[in-house]
Amino acid sequence: MQRHRPRNPRNVSKMWSATGFDTAVACDARYFWEVIIPEPGPEPPLGVWGISHHYMFQRFLTSHRSTGRYPFEQLKDFLGAWRGLWWGAVGDMRTMPDGRILASNPRNPFNSLEKFDSWINRQRKPPNQPVEVAWEYLAQPGVLFEQGNEILTKFHERHVRRRGDGTINLLEVRFNGLDWHGLKLNGVIDRIAIQPSGAWIVDYKDRWLDYPVLASGTQLTFYQLAYHYLRARGKIPGQPPLRGMFIYNYRRNAFQAAPLRTPREIGHLYLKLRQKQAYFDGVLFGRRPPTDLASTLPSEKLRDIETGDITPLFPRGNHCRYCRAFRQCREWELGQRPTARQAFAERHRLEKVKLVPSQLVIPVTQEPQVVARAAEYEQLVRLVLPVQISLEELIAPRVSLPRIRVRKRRVS
Ligand code: SF4
Repeated sequence: MQRHRPRNPRNVSKMWSATGFDTAVACDARYFWEVIIPEPGPEPPLGVWGISHHYMFQRFLTSHRSTGRYPFEQLKDFLGAWRGLWWGAVGDMRTMPDGRILASNPRNPFNSLEKFDSWINRQRKPPNQPVEVAWEYLAQPGVLFEQGNEILTKFHERHVRRRGDGTINLLEVRFNGLDWHGLKLNGVIDRIAIQPSGAWIVDYKDRWLDYPVLASGTQLTFYQLAYHYLRARGKIPGQPPLRGMFIYNYRRNAFQAAPLRTPREIGHLYLKLRQKQAYFDGVLFGRRPPTDLASTLPSEKLRDIETGDITPLFPRGNHCRYCRAFRQCREWELGQRPTARQAFAERHRLEKVKLVPSQLVIPVTQEPQVVARAAEYEQLVRLVLPVQISLEELIAPRVSLPRIRVRKRRVS
């Protein structure tokens, strides 16, 4: 199980997931506040609900390690597991003073699953601490529970006879830091179905994808790249070629076929990722964009690089619909926030302080006791040694003290 590791700030402009990239394409400021310097906060209900379904699908399609048998042959057992998962996760509800309804679960049942672990990691909390959900209305957990019952009933009906047909299912396949010409790609593929003739990538969604996204959206392009990477490293049993990609719409219990991406589309993604990398390198670290990319960046992005700040995508509109950084965005608009470069440097400094032993960061030379003792010591040095040596010289490396020669006198 993966634990939270602090991001290496130097890599922040290289590391990309499909979701992060789509967020940055929609609004760079949102990406900065939600992904680069996120503040912990409650999870959106539909996000929790969607991840819970991923978890149930994974359990249903995972056979027992030694017997090879699949669980939940009976629908009632499957729905019973769903009941336990959902109410275990959201049962402990409370209303905050500001009116938000939150749920936290001290018996969080998700800890054993990588996806849930990464979800907790995103909140910058140790995995054994409760995760909070910001419910929109009191009855919402019950409404979502009933919808889950319907979805899982259909899923069971569709998959219960097929799961023993010889297909090898790789579930929740994680790729971390996939090296793509200097970029690092991250993500989790919901399912890779492998047969001797080929492999198929399946991504779970609670909706249909519009055709342009289905045909060339970046998430499946990331997955296609990841499949080739995993196959080249012998991580795919039998190493068959990738034959296709599908979206499984679990609300409708139906599949949508997506075309494999062309080299041109993959090249286009690479260019866009490098532009984003150059932009965030410039804004956060003051690095000049490489000459081949500078001419491809719009003038407002070049201005952001100059100022070390990120301009949100105004006017606000559809791209703001699920934005969790509205408060920061509004404060930025009113001139009440530091620049992105300053905020990033400050966050980085704070994170570093948490990581190193406190002795290294306390300015010991400023402490009154230390100052007083140093003065006393300097005085002592002046008195004892035949020549005056400054304290700086004394403590500086590779400075040797003058030797005091003591002549022995014969006592007559
Ligand atoms: S509210 Fe809209 S403009 Fe502001 S950061 Fe969020 S997505 Fe960008």
